[in-house]
Amino acid sequence: MLKMRVGDLLNEIVYKCQQMFGGYGFMEEYPIGRIYRDVRIAPIYGGISEIMKEIIAKMVIDEVEYKPVYKKQ
Ligand SMILES: Cc1cc2nc3c(=O)[nH]c(=O)nc-3n(C[C@H](O)[C@H](O)[C@H](O)COP(=O)(O)OP(=O)(O)OC[C@H]3O[C@@H](n4cnc5c(N)ncnc54)[C@H](O)[C@@H]3O)c2cc1C
Repeated sequence: MLKMRVGDLLNEIVYKCQQMFGGYGFMEEYPIGRIYRDVRIAPIYGGISEIMKEIIAKMVIDEVEYKPVYKKQ
């Protein structure tokens, strides 16, 4: 849940910041342009949001429990 929320929040925040920069925000030469491109991957590479929602739905509707797996050191 946290992973999905953080990915979405990152995109919302950076979108607004980029808007403030106007056209410059779109250019690779400015860090905000690069940040905008980089945060877009957050809801994809950590597991796409659609799958995160599927997992949450299983927990809420089907009462499936996911337990963390600890490895022995
Ligand atoms: C920079 C980068 C680093 C990565 N690092 C790792 C890593 O270290 N380890 C690792 O295991 N993987 C890694 N990945 C892979 C990453 O986990 C996958 O990109 C991610 O799981 C999405 O899979 P996909 O790209 O095949 O997209 P797809 O599965 O083809 O999904 C494309 C789109 O289809 C839709 N979709 C897909 N399935 C569903 C569904 N069930 N329900 C609804 N809509 C759906 C969604 O809109 C989704 O965004 C990395 C990817 C990138 C880009």
